[in-house]
Amino acid sequence: MKHCLYCHQAIYMKVTWTNVFQVEQRPTLCQVCEARLECIVGNRCSICSRNSEETNCHDCERWDDYYGGKDPLLKNTSMYHYNDFMKELITKWKYRGDYMIGNVFHHKVHSQFLQHYRTIQEHFIVVPIPLTEERGYERAFNQTQMLASFIQAPKEEVLVRTLNEKQSKKTRTQRIMAENPFKLVKTLHNPVLLVDDIYTTGRTLRHAAQLLIENGCPAVYALTICRS
Ligand SMILES: [Zn+2]
Ligand SMILES: [Zn+2]
Repeated sequence: MKHCLYCHQAIYMKVTWTNVFQVEQRPTLCQVCEARLECIVGNRCSICSRNSEETNCHDCERWDDYYGGKDPLLKNTSMYHYNDFMKELITKWKYRGDYMIGNVFHHKVHSQFLQHYRTIQEHFIVVPIPLTEERGYERAFNQTQMLASFIQAPKEEVLVRTLNEKQSKKTRTQRIMAENPFKLVKTLHNPVLLVDDIYTTGRTLRHAAQLLIENGCPAVYALTICRS
């Protein structure tokens, strides 16, 4: 008997000939919890994945201006809206050490990669965004590494954080905008797919993308679970 990774209710499912061998597609959440996830549907910004009637949303236009017409992030795709349930789910996963919750995203991350990225680039290297140090939480694992593991492509952990949360809180907003919190430990000459849990302003992903591009990476894309 399988149980919902969030509420631990038993999951009843019919095993049919079409799903019997597709282990990764078996439900990880019960129907009630599953229904609380909100997939992003409809027209989206072609760059950041937020719902938008424009091809590129206002924020992405601003990013492009900020980088003088050369936004280092070519595209981000997100799967879900960051609604209240997603907040709870991610909090449990990230901050309460409930490692198994990450498996909720396994199939979606895997299929999102095949659908959006496998077709545009053949030799991606997957790079997880390193975690921020947040006080008060002890983390035994790295969630973005877990997300990266769901993608069938080579992985490289080439980014490390140089600024921790404590330092960045002391700096002025403008400095945070300009100051890159990452350091590159190895250059990559393949297209990169950055992986993170949430796209909020796009600042973090662009810092990472900028650093990779400046050091010889030909193209940077991103895959995130949610677009907040
Ligand atoms: Zn449930
Ligand atoms: Zn956008």
